[in-house]
Amino acid sequence: MKVFIACLGTETNTFSPIPTGYETFAESMLFDGDATRQPANLFSEPLIVWRDMAEAMDAEVIESLAAFAQPAGPTVRRVYEGFRDRILADLKAALPVDMVLINMHGAMVADGYPDCEGDLLGRIRALVGPQTIVGGELDLHCSITQAMIGAADVLITFKEYPHIDGRARAEELFTICDAARRGAARPEMSVRDLRMINMWRTTEAPGSTIVSAMQEAERRNDILSVSFAHGFPWGDVPEASAKVLVVSDNAAPAGSAVAEDIADLIWQQRDGVNGTLPGVADAVQMALAAPQGPVVLADVADNAGGGAPSDSTFILSHLLEIGATGVLSGFYWDPVAVRFCFEAGEGASLALRIGGKCGPDSGQPIDLKVTVRGLVADAKQSFGSASQSMGRAAWVSSGGVDLILNENRTQVFHPDGFTQFGLDLAKAKIIVVKSTQHFHAGFAPIAGKIIYVAAPGAIPPDFANIPFEVFQQPFWPRVAEPFAKPSSA
Ligand SMILES: [Zn+2]
Repeated sequence: MKVFIACLGTETNTFSPIPTGYETFAESMLFDGDATRQPANLFSEPLIVWRDMAEAMDAEVIESLAAFAQPAGPTVRRVYEGFRDRILADLKAALPVDMVLINMHGAMVADGYPDCEGDLLGRIRALVGPQTIVGGELDLHCSITQAMIGAADVLITFKEYPHIDGRARAEELFTICDAARRGAARPEMSVRDLRMINMWRTTEAPGSTIVSAMQEAERRNDILSVSFAHGFPWGDVPEASAKVLVVSDNAAPAGSAVAEDIADLIWQQRDGVNGTLPGVADAVQMALAAPQGPVVLADVADNAGGGAPSDSTFILSHLLEIGATGVLSGFYWDPVAVRFCFEAGEGASLALRIGGKCGPDSGQPIDLKVTVRGLVADAKQSFGSASQSMGRAAWVSSGGVDLILNENRTQVFHPDGFTQFGLDLAKAKIIVVKSTQHFHAGFAPIAGKIIYVAAPGAIPPDFANIPFEVFQQPFWPRVAEPFAKPSSA
């Protein structure tokens, strides 16, 4: 047996001013056929799983490119085409193959390509023909499109947000695709559009209830896999909305019925999703009033993982204004400030301009007299079992405020992004993290309380009012009944 594996993806925020070019991929993840020989990160881990499972069966593994970029604006056309054509050339040279397994995001947009995954899968199918099994693993913040469904045999998304199940989904995809290859299963995909744009955290109801219902449905003999593709709210593409995707074993009507049931459950629970979040002043007041710290404030609108700059200062400036102490915050993407800190050296005191540099959504830069308390040349943080680079990073203090500044734009995934400097998180009263939900797994065990904050920023959690131009369908919560027929005049 011959298995071809590759990875190409990013989560494109079509409203973001930050271009996604070669450098962004090189800084995030770019391996030329040897990703599985390197330490695992979130996006290479599925390839490692697939190689291990294939080699355990004495299969030959052909490994191509593994490229993944930190979310930002649309990918530069020649960069997408270059990566895509490299994967296709490797595949062509490897033919014939029995299985193609691709790790993608599912919300990648390039200049001229509103659906990169549909484009890539379609070209793969055209090369391998109808007999080869083509499977894809996707982030749950993906847009499932007709083109993707038409080209692949099996697609599976993460179930959990935070994404703690990437490895489990990779194993599941391999198992189903291998069964299909042997003729032991006949995967058929059924999709149900929800016409909803929102975010569902799976650490609490209703997200956790939906996950349980999907797992329950997977116990049926005729159902191989159930995915809930949440969609990516800040991707303005033709097929943007949330969808349920069911892979049945040669039982499309049963698959459609399960998709319908899960869709009903999601719709019935819609009012429990994302209540109104407190603004900056209210959230800080709640944090200061909490009996037990540290209180974690999630700056959801400046999450680099959603394509935001990660240098906004709205919460920080309020905390400084009221003279709050015991404050720890990160990670501010500010390569200029980091450079100044490295030049000045550990222990130095200097006037530093921090954040607020990328655009109006970043707020105003903050001028502070700081002491450089720590410098890490190759800072890292954990995300699940993988390690993510933060680039060069600096810990600076000013009054009762400690900040982490870094060079590789990334959201906060884990407390070790802070503790690698020797910081003691238990001593902080307030920890402000630039993240929507991935921080949760690592911070919940140490937090007295977690508060999601509706600060201004590049990805505000105001789903009804996202200024879509390409996405035309009615959707909840912008309209109460997105499937209602328009009334005729
Ligand atoms: Zn995601």
